Amino acid sequence: MATYVWDFTQGDKDQKDLLGGKGANLAEMTRLGLPVPPGFTITTEACRAFMRTGAVPRELAVEVTTALRKMEDTLGRRFGDPDDPLLVSVRSGAKFSMPGMMETVLDVGLNDTTVHGLARFSGDERFAWDSYRRLVQMFGRTVLDIDGALFSDALDAAKAARGVTSDVDLDADALRELVGTFQEIVRTHTGSPFPQDPREQLDLAIVAVLGSWNTERARLYRRKERIPDDLGTAVNVVPMVFGNLGPTSGTGVAFTRDPATGKTGNYGDYLANAQGEDVVAGIRNTLSLEDLAQRDPGAYADLRRAMRQLETHYRDLCDIEFTIERGKLWMLQTRVGKRTAPAAFRIATQLVDEHLITLDEALARVSGAQLSQLLFPQFAVSDDRTLLARGMAASPGAAVGAAVFDSATAQQRAALGEDVVLVRRETNPDDLGGMIAAVGVLTARGGKTSHAAVVARGMGRTCVVGAEAVDIDLVTRSFRVDGHVVREGDTLAIDGGTGEVFLGQVPVEPSPVSRYLEEGLDAALDHAPDDDTRELVRSVDRLLTHADTVRRLHVHANADTAADAARARRLGAQGVGLCRTEHQFLGERRVLVERVVLASGDDERQAALDALLPLQREDFVGLLREMDGLPTTIRLLDPPLHEFLPDLTDLSVRVALAHERGEDAASDERLLAAVRRMHEANPMLGLRGVRLGLVVPGLFALQIRAVCEAVVERRAAGGDPRAEIMVPLVGSVQELRLVKDEARTIMAAVSAERGVDLDLPVGVMIELPRAALTADRIAQEAAFFSFGTNDLTQTTWGFSRDDVEGAFFAQYTDNGVLTVSPFETIDALGVGRLVQIAVEQGRAARPDLTLGVCGEHGGDPESIRFFHDAGLDYVSCSPFRVPVARLEAGRAAV
Ligand code: PEP
Ligand code: MG
Repeated sequence: MATYVWDFTQGDKDQKDLLGGKGANLAEMTRLGLPVPPGFTITTEACRAFMRTGAVPRELAVEVTTALRKMEDTLGRRFGDPDDPLLVSVRSGAKFSMPGMMETVLDVGLNDTTVHGLARFSGDERFAWDSYRRLVQMFGRTVLDIDGALFSDALDAAKAARGVTSDVDLDADALRELVGTFQEIVRTHTGSPFPQDPREQLDLAIVAVLGSWNTERARLYRRKERIPDDLGTAVNVVPMVFGNLGPTSGTGVAFTRDPATGKTGNYGDYLANAQGEDVVAGIRNTLSLEDLAQRDPGAYADLRRAMRQLETHYRDLCDIEFTIERGKLWMLQTRVGKRTAPAAFRIATQLVDEHLITLDEALARVSGAQLSQLLFPQFAVSDDRTLLARGMAASPGAAVGAAVFDSATAQQRAALGEDVVLVRRETNPDDLGGMIAAVGVLTARGGKTSHAAVVARGMGRTCVVGAEAVDIDLVTRSFRVDGHVVREGDTLAIDGGTGEVFLGQVPVEPSPVSRYLEEGLDAALDHAPDDDTRELVRSVDRLLTHADTVRRLHVHANADTAADAARARRLGAQGVGLCRTEHQFLGERRVLVERVVLASGDDERQAALDALLPLQREDFVGLLREMDGLPTTIRLLDPPLHEFLPDLTDLSVRVALAHERGEDAASDERLLAAVRRMHEANPMLGLRGVRLGLVVPGLFALQIRAVCEAVVERRAAGGDPRAEIMVPLVGSVQELRLVKDEARTIMAAVSAERGVDLDLPVGVMIELPRAALTADRIAQEAAFFSFGTNDLTQTTWGFSRDDVEGAFFAQYTDNGVLTVSPFETIDALGVGRLVQIAVEQGRAARPDLTLGVCGEHGGDPESIRFFHDAGLDYVSCSPFRVPVARLEAGRAAV
């Protein structure tokens, strides 16, 4: 059996690793009996071999010959036959869709002889020469690496010479001449004639498509989408079917539901008398599928049937590329379609109602990242908005920024921190950098399946396409619309949910989904402007409720204040996983801590501590009130000392100035001496966390007492406070023992003073490798572990969490050391391994140990799955991420 070449009758949709997405799905459609041209796929294995060695594997040539023979036999036509030539397209197709990023060559097999055969077979001389013209142009550009502008300039010149403006107005003679001109361009730039041997064309095209895996733009796209660089692309060799054989032919893209909004029904774009690339390029504005139904009811009915069959088979929204050749439908691609965040939620619940999928499956089909997108504010409806134009809503969101007209400017201005909206007639793959840099994309041409729409949707970028009234002038860097002139730098606001384009700033308001989360289902439904929004809100409610039912992980919040805690609780938090008490010591209270630290004697220190106690107690009372009945983890002071002291440089300058002016600086001098004494070269690894508590007498005691007194006060008020005390930066069990002894003493004292019984759990943060590696010992003294994955990442990698991301991580992602920042998504192999070790050891030593995580990773979708698998009890994250974490914890459980 062939190794590198699979024909479409062999594979199926689950073989995307080997056959790429396009190849696997073409095979699946072939198995389903849909009309797919009988082609074959060269596997990603061949591409990987090509990347390794720089050459295609030796066996490939023979395998291609065999597959080609079979194709010829099936179709009864021969490649290179002068009378009735078989032509093929050579198309890239990786495991993950990379729209427009790699190459495709169409009409391979045409030459000076077969072009006449094609003319005879099709009965259309013009079509034959146009196809040949396209081949030389595409082949020249992608295979022979000739500047595409040379061909398009020659095409423009031919049109000008004949006084026409559109390609379709060039007749057969003009196109024949153009083929001659194009061939001359090839000869001049390569030193050789355009290859006439169809097989040589095919082999070169295959190599070019394999090579296009590694173009600059493909690599950039993969980095953005986190697609590994070593997957490689498959290559599909497909017999040509022609959408450009006159008015009964055409080509289109269809969706089984609306990928922008999730509405049921068939959606798509169709271009009569055109080839597939023309639709995606967004060059001509397209027709709708209803128009196709009018023009060709038979082909339309076949298409509808195929769409229904595919959706039922894949049990999901499918997108489809098709061609109609003289009334006969051909399916050229399908896949489970990309969709916007609102569409994802609506479609998932629609499919449940249609009994195609279960609620568990529906939950797996939406993501926390999509839910976050639904929380973005939207433009408020108001009378002072200046509506400039309307286009198609291609990818939702409310984007406001300075108008820019090219990708390079977008990148430059964005790099300086400016929000920009990229405005283009249409986009092409070279605009990718600008699209990534911009907050929104606006195009004047193209439909919902144009390059701009597909790419923007894929990366969650706000996008409006086909705003035809927008008339761009690249020379003056401005556009005209409806009597207004908008210049580069002017502020634009685009609404990707409605397709509206506004001039200037437009105020924003909470989205319907954030209203739902904050105020409840009824309030959100009452406030929703239309049925679509109501359906969306209900879908989110259903899936989030289901996530809450199935998830094993609890979701807590990192909240430092009563207000944060209240918000977190509204959003579904089941406790506070981390209250960073240092936040309560900054601002005007900083001086009090400074006095504790710098006190010259016990009395002075005690006075400062006494001043802090009531303030701190009130903080905790508020927090415990909001979290009544739920675990509330209060962490003892953590940051390095210097954060509470005046800045060394400022203070030195102050003292020097005072000296110069002959002023008395005695107290500042004392302070400066103390600050110098305590100055640390590497404070994050210095006197912080538990070390601070053990070295500065009374500091932790004050905090523990404040917690105890707050608990007593809440109990007296009839509440159910569940405070827990957490010790940061523990590396040795002995540190914990010392703090725990102190805590016990204070609890006993407060119990005796107030006549109550206090026994608050004391636990630790696991945020140093040593703590993870000695977790069995630490667990003997700890009621709970909370993984501080921020510091654990910092100390495991030796990456300074405050410095590295801006400094060199970009380079580290470029050269493949990192695929994503380990401060964003848990490094499962390293940091994650330490978590696993600590979980195993901790649970073995103490089976009732509670395990949670409170580093930033607690709110990161991918990391949440890891923590679920690692067997933690809860994740804790910032309040606004709580709904996302609930959803992701549910998804991890199904
Ligand atoms: C951590 O280190 O992960 C943590 C939660 O503590 P902080 O971020 O406050 O250092
Ligand atoms: Mg920490």
